[in-house]
Amino acid sequence: MRPVYSCSPDQAKSLLFSRCFQAVRVCPCGYYNHPEKSCVCLPGLVQRYLNRVSGPLLDRIDLHVEVTPVPFDDLSVKRYTEDSASVRERVQKARFIQDQRFAHSKTVFCNARMRSRMVQEVCGIDQSGRNLLKNAMDRLGFSARAYDRILKVARTIADLEEETLIKTTHQAGQ
Ligand SMILES: [Zn+2]
Repeated sequence: MRPVYSCSPDQAKSLLFSRCFQAVRVCPCGYYNHPEKSCVCLPGLVQRYLNRVSGPLLDRIDLHVEVTPVPFDDLSVKRYTEDSASVRERVQKARFIQDQRFAHSKTVFCNARMRSRMVQEVCGIDQSGRNLLKNAMDRLGFSARAYDRILKVARTIADLEEETLIKTTHQAGQ
């Protein structure tokens, strides 16, 4: 079988990432989902742009973040933001929780590395969490891989908040 890319694994990875970043601009005019300006692209064009990044590739990315332009007035306003030192402290605590969680494993050292069976053991959710996930799966047609990924990210958010149990807010990312 002919390889998809005739290059090293590192080069292939870099190609994949550059395709991911292409997806940042989702339409030719650049105003799709803009808070103030209107997208002038023909119907179907946005979908064609999105289709350039394959579903299976998107399925492997843990977090998709939509970034909209920041108005000038918001940029110039001074507001409280959490400083890097306290974020670092929170991340270190979450990593410590995960070190303890996976102390028995030789191959898994953080939530992101869990295999499906381990996700079932580690990422327990209650009935309302199950309902939320079921609705999302039904409505958005998520794959089994996406299901695991949501639970891993939810477990990580719960770790950052030093919560033992995963709550629906951790699943919904709010
Ligand atoms: Zn557009």
